[in-house]
Amino acid sequence: MSAHQTYSFFQSVEKSFNKAAKFTKWDQGILEQIKACNNILQIRFPLKRDNGTIEVIEAYRVQHSHHKTPCKGGIRFSNEVNQDEVMALAALMTYKCAIVNVPFGGGKGGIKINPKNYSVYELEKITRRYTSELVKKKFIGPGLDVPAPDYGTGEREMAWIVDTYASLNPGEIDAAGCVTGKPVTQGGVRGRKEATGLGVFFGIREVCNMEEVMKGLGLTVGIKDKKVVVQGLGNVGYHAAKFFSEGGAKVIGLAEFEGAITNPNGLDVEAVFQHRKSTGSILNFPGATNLAKNTDALEMECDILIPAALENVINGENAPRVKAKIVGEAANGPCTPEADEVFIKKGILCVPDMYLNAGGVTVSYFEWLKNLSHVRYGRMEKRFTENLNYSILEQVEALTGKTVSESARKIILNGPGEVELVHSGLEETMIAATREIMEIWKGNKDIPDMRTAAYVSAIDKVGTAYAQLGIFP
Ligand code: NAD
Repeated sequence: MSAHQTYSFFQSVEKSFNKAAKFTKWDQGILEQIKACNNILQIRFPLKRDNGTIEVIEAYRVQHSHHKTPCKGGIRFSNEVNQDEVMALAALMTYKCAIVNVPFGGGKGGIKINPKNYSVYELEKITRRYTSELVKKKFIGPGLDVPAPDYGTGEREMAWIVDTYASLNPGEIDAAGCVTGKPVTQGGVRGRKEATGLGVFFGIREVCNMEEVMKGLGLTVGIKDKKVVVQGLGNVGYHAAKFFSEGGAKVIGLAEFEGAITNPNGLDVEAVFQHRKSTGSILNFPGATNLAKNTDALEMECDILIPAALENVINGENAPRVKAKIVGEAANGPCTPEADEVFIKKGILCVPDMYLNAGGVTVSYFEWLKNLSHVRYGRMEKRFTENLNYSILEQVEALTGKTVSESARKIILNGPGEVELVHSGLEETMIAATREIMEIWKGNKDIPDMRTAAYVSAIDKVGTAYAQLGIFP
């Protein structure tokens, strides 16, 4: 390959895979199978537009791996959609699900449109036709392939998909499990909206609880009073910042596309969010200082930097000026491979996107389980737990002659509802994944960074699944 060889998105995913594969025991055949995209569906269908003209719509669905089924991954509506991109994103879903022990193969879908150029009626027609094409080709179903929202799609599109699927499969009792990210009224799960930001918090908190890791970075153990800077106050960034604050960290910097602000004593995330909502800008928040440029936030003196906006924001040019000890990739691909090299040299710990922002897919898994079980989380045990805890409390108070405080009583007597159970399942998932990746990294001194260790974790799990399936006798 020439020095100027550029890689397609799928090839660059393969490149990262190959880098990590060196640290695994799998033979080339298994590695090739893990990397390959199993099924690629390319679709063209006509759309009659509101003005009467006919337009041909280009769409894709890729099932990267069937080592576990169903396949899982979002559907993107974007003008940039192409087969290579959908393949790369499907592959990344395989690895992401494996790392967080979500038992799905990777999938991804895309429709090459800019949703802003279409009416709601046209978007509904496109989504429903796409779904019926997936049904015809057996590329959707609770046991086959389960899409979710991605760029340009949300709850509304997921509601159209489940409705189309259910009407084409009358009597299929698990039809609601054909897609996740649905509105709660259509079989969605509570706690999904904040899932990615909360997962970021749980992952970083676990890293901060690791004594050896903190010692290596010259930081104290625990999240309390850690100085945090967050870029992007959208769904992921806002929730991550909020949970860091509530967890005892100090959010000292926030950046949006119009600018950045800082307060060394800590910013009230909710108040900043409301200030931006009412004034249209993050700037001039009472008690905070405006920074000259929004990108200055990335270079602030802090313990934890959370890029939660866009890809490629930390690169070979600005990475040498990053002063954070930990960079938590909440966005997809915020740090370039050149930035990774700089971090390794400077001893900055980069916690990789592929697992750190897996909260969304984890809670999608919980939504799918809810759909298959046909019961809301907590419905069976909430009241039982409350009654049991009440009896225990009564006994303890009678035996000790002491009374439990009102605040403690409230916590003890609160049986778990759907949100509490979803959050706790997510917490368990993120803690377990963090520990597994760190163990792999600790176990091989040649693994250069946590990103490579995360890939090794994924390759080992998918490789084991293929080997156990007896696909390679
Ligand atoms: P979002 O659109 O809700 O938020 C992004 C925010 O970043 C917006 O508020 C935007 O104004 C801000 N922003 C744009 N340019 C900026 C700049 N130059 N500097 C600072 N801020 C800027 O999107 P989101 O859902 O929060 O996703 C953010 C990132 O997280 C994306 O990379 C996405 O792929 C990734 N991600 C999201 C989820 C999810 O569940 N939403 C899951 C996994 C990964």
